[in-house]
Amino acid sequence: MAIWNLGSINADFVYTVPHIPAPGETLSSTDRQMFLGGKGANMSVAAARAGARVNHIGAVGADGKWAVERLLEYGVDTRNIAEIETETAQAIIMVDPQGENAIILHPAANAQIPQATLQTAMAEAQTGDWLVIQNETNLQRTAASLGKKMGLRVAYAAAPFDAERVMAVQPHLDFLILNAVEAAQLEQATGQAPADMDVRDVIVTLGADGADWYGTGGKQHFDAIAVDPVDTTGAGDTFTGYVLAGLDRGMPMEQAIGQATKAGALMVMRHGTADVIPDLSEVQAFHL
Ligand code: ATP
Repeated sequence: MAIWNLGSINADFVYTVPHIPAPGETLSSTDRQMFLGGKGANMSVAAARAGARVNHIGAVGADGKWAVERLLEYGVDTRNIAEIETETAQAIIMVDPQGENAIILHPAANAQIPQATLQTAMAEAQTGDWLVIQNETNLQRTAASLGKKMGLRVAYAAAPFDAERVMAVQPHLDFLILNAVEAAQLEQATGQAPADMDVRDVIVTLGADGADWYGTGGKQHFDAIAVDPVDTTGAGDTFTGYVLAGLDRGMPMEQAIGQATKAGALMVMRHGTADVIPDLSEVQAFHL
């Protein structure tokens, strides 16, 4: 089968600063690096690295050709990434010596994915394929209802969190993944705990505490692997990509979560996001 991921693509500019600037302050950075980022791109790379056939649906500006090439290098099908007349999305990330960060997200092309791009992609999708959405693009609701109607399995990573959107797409979902903060926000905003959601499979990731799966058989907990983390960014997207790639290959949920847990642990042991996501052979070889 295949995974169709309607997702964000960002240029992540990481500025090293002596401290996070205060209002009105001008501050020089001591270093700047650029990476491929965005929850969508990270998930596409993770699922592709896990061996799935991944089609990314998205948009960049003319300044984003490098990002599309990078995705292609990582094994993602990029034919449904439109080049449109705006800028590629940017994340301006400031990191201080304590590792504290502040981020400005400029959505640009991620918020303007043409409907025609989604439709062209969906025309190729087959019953049983996965459609994945997150909250960093436009068109999620259209995609979720279209996907459901076409008999695709619809997965939603509800980040950055928006309770109204979760409730709007819930009827179309087969799979929902939240982190612990998002699960608490959901309960606070709607009164519904993850177990109450009308979605077949719900996963709540708990960082170093692992993950809970709420499925037809009730709740099942999976411990994380004890490692020394150096940078937890991208662990959640990597985990999601690996779970979906496993399910797409026909693995039982327990096994898919097992490989995602290893991939998540490997991710927190390295700096960076999309560019350092482990491939399946590394994940399979990983034992402590
Ligand atoms: P992020 O936004 O930082 O990408 P997230 O908050 O969406 O992540 P987490 O719950 O932090 O997602 O992590 C996803 C999974 O990665 C966890 O369920 C766990 O398996 C693994 N993981 C995360 N942090 C650690 C850690 N410190 N040690 C071991 N495994 C971890």
